[in-house]
Amino acid sequence: MARSVFITGGNRGIGFAIAKMMAEAGDRVAVTYRSGEPPSGHGILPVQCDITDPDQVEAAFKLIEAEHGPVEVLVANAGITRDGLLMRMPEEDFAAVIDTNLTAAYRLAKRATRGMLRARKGRMIFISSAVAMLGEAGQSNYAAAKAGLIGFSRSLARELGSRNITSNVVAPGLTSTDMTAVLPEERIKALLAQIPLGSTARPEDIAAAVRFLASDEASYITGAVLPVDGGVGMGH
Ligand code: NDP
Repeated sequence: MARSVFITGGNRGIGFAIAKMMAEAGDRVAVTYRSGEPPSGHGILPVQCDITDPDQVEAAFKLIEAEHGPVEVLVANAGITRDGLLMRMPEEDFAAVIDTNLTAAYRLAKRATRGMLRARKGRMIFISSAVAMLGEAGQSNYAAAKAGLIGFSRSLARELGSRNITSNVVAPGLTSTDMTAVLPEERIKALLAQIPLGSTARPEDIAAAVRFLASDEASYITGAVLPVDGGVGMGH
């Protein structure tokens, strides 16, 4: 049956790949976009929303509920980087990354839980990163936020399991999107050398893991961290 699926940051990159895959599978999919072009086609409902603004998040949920019904699958995917070595990292860069990548996930999950509790079913999927477990020089803010998502998701798994709501994390490795297109070639080469499968992920590789965790086949999986990283984290 078509479910109401809400994916943040679904206008490009990994989020768009997830949105396309789930819409093609028959779900009613809504995605956020901010200032850029809304995504078109695939029957996807674009919702203008900055996830760092609680009022915009509330308005997004209201719109989705009116168009598609209460959110049954939440994919907290939107994220940013503000890389820099610790000694040179301004406090606003640390705070901005925590706010977008971690605090917004709390905001979204809390709002989604309302409808899921009522329905006594739901799926939450948080997009973390291999960096959450490995750490990365120049990404202390990002790694802290992404590691925070794991503790957050596992706590929700414990809080909400008895209500048939699962909460899981997908941890992608290096994936070809706008986020990584800005990395210097030398950096990409060095990162590739550490990946047993020797290549970057395609956004569709991450989407397939999300689709699985949202599917009936994954109904007994909660509190998990599923790496999709070409082996770079060796299953961590
Ligand atoms: P992109 O930079 O390609 O896209 C980021 C998405 O997040 C965009 O849709 C962007 O919207 C949205 N976004 C950012 N901030 C906000 C905000 N405040 N409110 C609403 N939307 C926002 O990233 P990727 O597709 O590569 O990454 C998706 C997720 O996967 C992120 O959480 C990222 O950390 C994670 N990830 C990515 C990896 C990679 O190698 N690419 C590896 C591991 C994890 P807009 O277009 O409006 O800016």
